[in-house]
Amino acid sequence: MKLTRRQFIAATGALGAGAATSAIAQPTSPLPFLITTQNGPLLPRAGGKRVVVCGGGWGGITAAKHLKKNDPTLEVILLERNPVFFSCPMSNKWLIDVVDSDYLTWSYLPIAQKHDYRFIQTEVVAFEREHKRVITAQGWIDYDYLIIGAGIRYHYEAWFGNDRKAAEHARAHFPAAYIPNAEHYALKQGIRNFKGGDLVMTLPPPPHRCPPSPYERACLIAWHIKTHGIKGRITILDPKDSPKPITEGFKEAFATLYKDQITYVPNAVITEVDPFNRKIRTKAGDFRFDHGILMAPHQAGDMAWKAGAIGRNAEGKATGWADVDPVFLNLRDDRDVYVIGDAVGAVSPQFNFYPKAGHVANYQGRIVARYIADRVAGKTPRAALPDNLCFMMVNASPREDIAVRFRYHLDDKGTIIQEQIDDNLRRDDLVTEDFQWASRMFEDMFT
Ligand SMILES: Cc1cc2nc3c(=O)[nH]c(=O)nc-3n(C[C@H](O)[C@H](O)[C@H](O)COP(=O)(O)OP(=O)(O)OC[C@H]3O[C@@H](n4cnc5c(N)ncnc54)[C@H](O)[C@@H]3O)c2cc1C
Repeated sequence: MKLTRRQFIAATGALGAGAATSAIAQPTSPLPFLITTQNGPLLPRAGGKRVVVCGGGWGGITAAKHLKKNDPTLEVILLERNPVFFSCPMSNKWLIDVVDSDYLTWSYLPIAQKHDYRFIQTEVVAFEREHKRVITAQGWIDYDYLIIGAGIRYHYEAWFGNDRKAAEHARAHFPAAYIPNAEHYALKQGIRNFKGGDLVMTLPPPPHRCPPSPYERACLIAWHIKTHGIKGRITILDPKDSPKPITEGFKEAFATLYKDQITYVPNAVITEVDPFNRKIRTKAGDFRFDHGILMAPHQAGDMAWKAGAIGRNAEGKATGWADVDPVFLNLRDDRDVYVIGDAVGAVSPQFNFYPKAGHVANYQGRIVARYIADRVAGKTPRAALPDNLCFMMVNASPREDIAVRFRYHLDDKGTIIQEQIDDNLRRDDLVTEDFQWASRMFEDMFT
């Protein structure tokens, strides 16, 4: 007798929970099977050591692919809250239409299928490291090794304490757009609608995501204002004493290209922000503004906090950044948990933090994928360090970039040493290199 699909489902359902031979999962809750909750398992084990990667940004997406390349027997699962990848690198150029949205946006599924890892779009809500388990909005998942690529969070508490209303007002009306989300689109719309007035841009104190990029953003918005004959001015409030890195290149661009559009204020350490009345107090004076790009201080992203990965200083205060072994990038108190990318804490007494750059996150994703594959194979991982390369567009017609390169090595005491080379002379061949760099990165992450 041939059964219809409906009859087949009814028949197998009628076998009851004791039917060990049935391949059909039996319902254990009143909810349909695929409606998941935080209390249920997210995914059965597939065999092989399991690596869960939390965060599909520059670090996590790279790690997932390279884990499978290094050891195809690994079960790799990437957990990410966003439906698509949106690149912060190159996004300043997108603000003024040098590149379009397609250029920055990548799909997670094809790359996961190609390299045979699982991509699950979900929110990571907690970690139970004692059980080697990640809790997501859709269920829990256990791991043998964990990689956290948490990115950053905005530390609005430094400005507003527990005043959530002020923090939300600042975020909604004067978005920083330093984390891929709705803020980027709001900022782009704001630039398009800008009819003039005082635009204030606050820079976070170091360390923060992509140190030179706020100056690039200021230059490109200034270019837009200048090109469209808008009577507006950007005031950069920088807590540092000069733009860093690529100091001379940015200073020259401000003075030569944007003398009528940019006011650069050094040592502008913020003491008070009033987002409702558009006033800012700093150690270099007080400012009122019509428009704002208010960048609060940065810290490691929420997942690093939830994982209990944040370090403490000598007074027992949270450092805001993950406490990792500087070379092997595992948590100091948990060898099976790695942190990569911007969330990583200080790694060297010489320079403190790696530049919080996509280039570094990508490199660390590859490095940690190698470390884990070696450990699974019973080998001792060999120490590896990243490098960093960063191009910044300061002029959009003609297109001109400046650049900075960082190299790292271990000295004979095992300390990581940094060498920084600024390329201050703005020119078009650096623009070509900039786009070549981005192509190489996107290719490594998404093909
Ligand atoms: C304007 C701008 C320009 C830049 N330009 C450059 C450049 O030219 N070169 C360069 O090298 N770098 C640049 N950067 C820096 C670069 O974007 C970051 O250094 C890089 O994104 C860091 O990678 P990451 O993996 O640490 O974090 P991210 O790329 O931010 O990835 C973190 C991921 O975790 C996800 N996530 C966070 N919390 C959760 C949760 N609870 N559950 C699930 N998922 C979660 C996020 O959605 C995100 O996808 C720039 C940044 C900005 C803002």
